[in-house]
Amino acid sequence: MTKLAPENASGSEQGAARDFIRARIEQEIKQGKVAPDQVQTRFPPEPNGYLHIGHAKSICLNFGIAREFGGKCNLRFDDTNPVKESTEYVNAIQEDVSWLGFSWNAQARYTSDYFDRLYEYAEELIKLGKAYADSQSADDIHHTRGTLTEPGKNSPFRKRGVAENLDLFRRMRAGEFADGAHVLRAKIDMASPNMVMRDPVLYRIRHARHHRTGDKWCIYPMYDYSHCISDALERVTYSLCSLEFENNRELYDWILRTLNLFPSRQTEFARLNMTGAVLSKRKLIQLVTRKHVRGWDDPRLPTIRGLRRRGYTPEAIRDFCERIGVARADSRVDSSILDFCAREHLNRIAPRLMAVLNPLKVTLENYPENRTEWFEMPLNPEDAAQGSRKTPFSRNLLIEREDFMLNPPGKFHRLAPGREVRLRYAYYITCKEIVRDEQGEITELVCSYDPDSKGGSSSDGRKVRGTLHWVSAPHAVKSEVRLYERLFAMDNPEENLPDGKDFTFNINPASLSVTEGYMEPALAEYDVGSKVQFERLGYFCVDKDTRPERRVFNRIIGLKDSWSRIAAKS
Ligand code: ATP
Ligand code: MG
Repeated sequence: MTKLAPENASGSEQGAARDFIRARIEQEIKQGKVAPDQVQTRFPPEPNGYLHIGHAKSICLNFGIAREFGGKCNLRFDDTNPVKESTEYVNAIQEDVSWLGFSWNAQARYTSDYFDRLYEYAEELIKLGKAYADSQSADDIHHTRGTLTEPGKNSPFRKRGVAENLDLFRRMRAGEFADGAHVLRAKIDMASPNMVMRDPVLYRIRHARHHRTGDKWCIYPMYDYSHCISDALERVTYSLCSLEFENNRELYDWILRTLNLFPSRQTEFARLNMTGAVLSKRKLIQLVTRKHVRGWDDPRLPTIRGLRRRGYTPEAIRDFCERIGVARADSRVDSSILDFCAREHLNRIAPRLMAVLNPLKVTLENYPENRTEWFEMPLNPEDAAQGSRKTPFSRNLLIEREDFMLNPPGKFHRLAPGREVRLRYAYYITCKEIVRDEQGEITELVCSYDPDSKGGSSSDGRKVRGTLHWVSAPHAVKSEVRLYERLFAMDNPEENLPDGKDFTFNINPASLSVTEGYMEPALAEYDVGSKVQFERLGYFCVDKDTRPERRVFNRIIGLKDSWSRIAAKS
């Protein structure tokens, strides 16, 4: 597991080579191999699902490099599998990339824009004697690939001549054959130690409607074939992808070299894994379609939409991606690093107001009935520019149940029988009496207040050790508050599964709990998406389920910095 302390993380250093990819680019610029404005990257999502925080790592890397070196980054939809892809995902991905704060070079691109040229290059490979139509079944192709220790077997169709191959390929395109009748394969080496080089499939027949090209095509190119050529057509200099494509690099280079195209180069980096999360579109789809969560934007999901709805900011996500860096070794990053980044940003931007989540009534015996005082309180005592709001105070208040103890231990400085504490920005109060119901449960505290302590400090300089948040009961706005825990309690949800169970077995049943909260009136003024701090409780975001008659808040994270605990453990 990767654990980074804030002080040795790279933070927001700009320009300096922070990782091996940036170091390489910097060096190649120095050596004159590439001009800064020719530095060109791309982010190539397949539009078959929503983006997640792993994609954010790739987005920050690709767009970040282009920005830092003065180059360009394309957004290219890798839409070569018509069955799983849709315009819904295309739109959502563009929205998510923009929300993260990046803009792509010119208009979005699509691999399907290149279908004609990809087809022409395939004919060229055939004419060069470097590709052939194979009429074996998919099973036969699979079984003759060989193993890591044994070479594969040549297809009986490998010796077909150029004319026959061209004819078959053209008829594949014309729709004369059923799915699976033939494929187009590169003619490389069935004995290559790299399995990827054993006559990889370049095209397959698929009678399926494509979300952009409609019924124009019934053959579709494979990733390995289309990706490198698309990169070359766009003059991508640095094609960055995750480590599982390392073996594919040899094929990437072979295709571009054989076709004499722009020499784009592929560099691999480790994908992001995060504790308590699954980061694979396939698994995220399962969570959504099997209704383990409420949708793609469920605030417990590591999707960009989920994080956004929960209240994580783009700044926090970018900071996270910078801190975790880019390396060549797989690791699992602690999700508390993301929370640390979120806290850092929210601490600066979120106004601080008061809400009570687990209320205990307080009645001030010496405060006049029917009187309301409105206190002007700063929205952020560390940032006067955020302004202030007015908060009502009255005889009937609510405080947090946990802020009172009958028999407090030494370290407990909050309210207890006979004890005096400060109500934030308001008055000192002293607990006089405890009211219980028939079951003996404490239902109310009767307190007195000191009129000479207005604003929260006493005129005689008397000190109190505790300061509590509170709301005025008759003014409180009742709201729904959704509290989240990790969706998976264990670090790796896919480890140690009982027989026959998949990762969903490990879903934390306590990942969502809903409670009623009591808000000071100013909290009802914030729009959907606003982030606020509930004093002493944490950071919260106004959820889109909010209705005029009922506000809904998501807890983003607690206030406590868990870094110290993490650092101490490691
Ligand atoms: P998934 O496994 O979630 O389906 P994918 O790689 O199939 O991911 P793509 O849409 O093909 O999803 O990914 C677009 C880009 O994002 C690729 O360049 C891929 O390498 C990168 N990417 C995807 N997941 C991660 C991750 N966890 N960490 C870093 N980069 C990622
Ligand atoms: Mg993929």
